[in-house]
Amino acid sequence: MDDLKLLVDLHREGARQGPGSDAATRRALDLSGLRGQAGLRVADIGCGTGAATRVIAAELDAHVTAVDLFPDFLQVLEDHAEKAGLSDRIDTLAASMDDLPFAPGSLDAIWAEGAIYNIGFEAGITAWRRFLKPGGVLAVSELTWLTAERPEELTEHWAQEYPQVATAGTKIAQLEASGYMLIGYFPQGHVEWMENYYSPIIKRFSDFLARYDSDAARAIVAAEQREVGLYQRFADYVSYGFYIARRLPD
Ligand code: SAH
Repeated sequence: MDDLKLLVDLHREGARQGPGSDAATRRALDLSGLRGQAGLRVADIGCGTGAATRVIAAELDAHVTAVDLFPDFLQVLEDHAEKAGLSDRIDTLAASMDDLPFAPGSLDAIWAEGAIYNIGFEAGITAWRRFLKPGGVLAVSELTWLTAERPEELTEHWAQEYPQVATAGTKIAQLEASGYMLIGYFPQGHVEWMENYYSPIIKRFSDFLARYDSDAARAIVAAEQREVGLYQRFADYVSYGFYIARRLPD
């Protein structure tokens, strides 16, 4: 079994595949100005099993296209949507975020929680802008330095894993340079990263290793454990920031 299949297996049973919370999604919805608008078209890109998708579909008057590279996640999302009575508001689409089939100017909002890093923040905000209507909303959460300075060990880890990690000031400047106006930002915290994401994964490690007694599986667990350990020691310096921005006219 290759690494990707192992990763999907480890993450499929999680309520989330990245840091986040229903409360954070709601806060971003509050900031977005989308509440109260009718007949919205929204894409949730890198939706995983759809924790955010369900909040958006339940709380906006919207049709949501939930996009992920992995059909296994979309299958779980469809089951959850069905149970929540949201199937008629959610479609799934197995596609890569660097090759999306949306028509130009067709979306009122693009949502992406803990996912844009897969193509990189700047590439993502640039490539996705054309799918938004002028005035449409981009809401993305992204790995963010919380302070101007931080311990060397933390800098080195994330510089290797995700070189685009930067402060909110840098990310906001990138949005502004790419044709967006910032309408809201907030950093997420312990609940979103530790309680909702890392703690549930840690609980799944032993079952996962029992299912896959292999060096590849052990390496995945070791890497996750290292990342969790770093987060626990350095949570004051790094988190996921939530950026809500409006597409400016050309
Ligand atoms: N938004 C979800 C999942 C975040 S994890 C949540 O907050 O829980 C990142 C997601 O991006 C995963 O579900 C992963 O399968 C998906 N992904 C990774 N590469 C992708 C790509 N190239 N195109 C679309 N989705 C991708």
